[in-house]
Amino acid sequence: MRFLTQLTILSFFVFFFFTVNPISAKFYTNVSSIPPLQFLNATQNAWETFSKLAGCQIGEKIDGLSKLKQYFHRFGYITTIKNCTDDFDDALQSAINTYQKNFNLKVTGKLDSFTLRQIVKPRCGNPDMIDGFSEMNGGRKLRTTERYSFFPGKPRWPKRKRDLTYAFLPQNNLTDEVKRVFARAFTRWAEVTPLNFARSESLRGADIFIGFFSGEHGDGEPFDGAMGTLAHASSPPTGMLHLDGDEDWLISDGAISRRILPVTTVVDLESVVVHEIGHLLGLGHSSVEDAIMFPAISGGDRKVELAKDDIEGIQHLYGGNPNGDGGGGKKNTSRESETSGSGGGGGLRRWRGWVISLSLIATCVLFICF
Ligand SMILES: [Zn+2]
Ligand SMILES: [Zn+2]
Repeated sequence: MRFLTQLTILSFFVFFFFTVNPISAKFYTNVSSIPPLQFLNATQNAWETFSKLAGCQIGEKIDGLSKLKQYFHRFGYITTIKNCTDDFDDALQSAINTYQKNFNLKVTGKLDSFTLRQIVKPRCGNPDMIDGFSEMNGGRKLRTTERYSFFPGKPRWPKRKRDLTYAFLPQNNLTDEVKRVFARAFTRWAEVTPLNFARSESLRGADIFIGFFSGEHGDGEPFDGAMGTLAHASSPPTGMLHLDGDEDWLISDGAISRRILPVTTVVDLESVVVHEIGHLLGLGHSSVEDAIMFPAISGGDRKVELAKDDIEGIQHLYGGNPNGDGGGGKKNTSRESETSGSGGGGGLRRWRGWVISLSLIATCVLFICF
């Protein structure tokens, strides 16, 4: 298994260095800098043609259904897709049923307008179902309120790896402003776990590799241009975070409200990065719409705060923040690490605690003896 993981990483790097031309994505620093054209193009979407399938039912044969089957195959709702036709068959109906359940829609097995509106939304490229199974809407969990899920086998970073480093693809030439968005996103997970994140200037030895790519980029999961899939990430301990370089990204400073614009094709970068880091740490998708690990996000939406479901899921894997204050003591862990090269905030706090304790013991001993 470990050999296969290493082989996959090696194949990716071989493909990447010899065939892929990484691009620099387009970034907007604030809402007012987005050109009006982006608002006019807001309905352009890789999956927009699915809208014409509204009302299709089992037994019918309609142009475009084969593409919809490929969509469901990509996200794990149809496991095998031999002889893909435009027939609305049992496999498609079953996929729609499961999709509707996972996205809290009325389970009808039909392509109603609510279902299609959800299907065309931009989303994470990671599948919702793996090997035909998902716990994103309860599954076999005993507590029915839990919606977080894990990758098969529940992989996580090993105990000896609590300080993780991440590096950016140098060819993307990202500005410090863009890199700060990633630092903020990592900090959100550091605040509720024992994990610390530090930026590394070199790809060599980094635990997590981050890059913007366009189209096919060597891992068999090509990006699809504007909207559609926005990003994808691997499970631990592979550490690959890829973002679609053909998207227009908004790099906000966190001061704007959750819904920043009514409709736009510009995607809030931090919202997507916080979600993908969840995958890097071992979380799958959740059916809780307010959760970071919900698979889809509309253009113009901003969602960066971890929900109860996200926190319960990640703490199931790693436990809570050892400072026990819900994150206050570890704030800015990632940003501090960028300059210091180590995430030592928690260590310093513990060291101070030991010094104070030893001082008190010494004072008591002196008082008793003299
Ligand atoms: Zn995802
Ligand atoms: Zn990729």
